[in-house]
Amino acid sequence: MEIYLQNTVPVEKLCGEFECRCGGHKTLTRDIRFGAGASAALPAALETAVAKNVKLLMVTSESTDKAAAERLAAQLRKDYIVTKKIFAPCAPSLECAEGLVPLAGPETRAVVAVGGQSVCDVAKYAARASGLPLFFVPTTPAVLNCLQPYSALFDGNMRELYHTAAPHTLIADLDLMTAAPPAHAAAAFGHICALSVACFDRYFSSVVNKDYYCKETAALIRAAQDAVIADSEPLAEHDRAALCRLCEQAVRCAVYLQTADPRHAFMGGETLFALTQELYFIKNERTRRLLGENAFIAARLLARVYKYVTGEERLPEYAPFDDSLRLNSIREYLGVPEHASFKNLARVPDAADFENYRYLAREYKDELSRAAADCCALLTKAEKGFKRLYPDSGLWTRKYLTEKDMRVILALSPDIKPQYTMLTFMKHMGLLDPYLA
Ligand SMILES: [Zn+2]
Repeated sequence: MEIYLQNTVPVEKLCGEFECRCGGHKTLTRDIRFGAGASAALPAALETAVAKNVKLLMVTSESTDKAAAERLAAQLRKDYIVTKKIFAPCAPSLECAEGLVPLAGPETRAVVAVGGQSVCDVAKYAARASGLPLFFVPTTPAVLNCLQPYSALFDGNMRELYHTAAPHTLIADLDLMTAAPPAHAAAAFGHICALSVACFDRYFSSVVNKDYYCKETAALIRAAQDAVIADSEPLAEHDRAALCRLCEQAVRCAVYLQTADPRHAFMGGETLFALTQELYFIKNERTRRLLGENAFIAARLLARVYKYVTGEERLPEYAPFDDSLRLNSIREYLGVPEHASFKNLARVPDAADFENYRYLAREYKDELSRAAADCCALLTKAEKGFKRLYPDSGLWTRKYLTEKDMRVILALSPDIKPQYTMLTFMKHMGLLDPYLA
């Protein structure tokens, strides 16, 4: 993959087409423009896919930089008929996403989304449902899942994954991405580092399920992690050059995640845990955190648990600083229908298969143990940087989540396919049974 230095050329392609050296996979999103002022190239990018003077649906949200969204809309109105839909800053829901489909209408030729991951998720759903190409302009670096062909949308108070369209074009404008509030840089940093758990889970699945695992992609993700960890000091000081490098690594990771498995969401226990943790915060009327922030906390905990399970160390003790939110049962936490739905997700499809998985996990115990220890070491290294960027991270975790709560969330975290993550494997091994009462 070729990379042009940001800020030296106003608008450049970060990676027009990325084909992994393993030969097994390549990008779905071919047009990726990256650099300071890259959004000026939006009309030119549109011209490659749609004729002028047609209708476009532009999706944004109230939490998106209004001046930037208006400037882009004005730019597009010169050549297109633009219908603008602005969401209230809310959780991305299936209802919002379905509401967009009639707005797209028969005469609309493309969807343009300007905003963060939530805006992208609803727009991807609408683009797929209407069969239209999606042009995404992120206004934050915390959009690692933006290129993946799925959206995590709320249906009621449950987050579900929906297969959607991968964006046709990504316009990563450093001026827009670096203008996001500081918490977004912390979220992007957290999410990039949390991918070490996703990589471990992929590796784990390759051992027990014989799933495809690409070492090249894992190494590229690791390089991105090392780069952002090395930058954590200037990032904490809001250094623009460091922020630009963070955006670059975020875009790179988005590409790796898309190419790593174009058929499925590339995610591991960290994202599933983070989504469950989010549900916990919503249920308890706590402030919602950005996915990347939750994913980092989740990854940090999971890596320690994985290391424990593979025989490296004892489970860490979580001091019960605050018992006021302690949960007595999952039923109390989720309510009956949701409980049933989670139970269903955690079901073992075939007992004989599971015996085989267990045998393989034992057979490869040393390799898995090394991988878990490596994953844990990376996150330990990253933790200092994360705390630097996000000073109350330790506080809110310990204050609001007790060890038991953490374990309940662990137990609840669903799996996108059987035995995909170490977490589900642990469930089936009965390690989490005491918490599934
Ligand atoms: Zn590969």
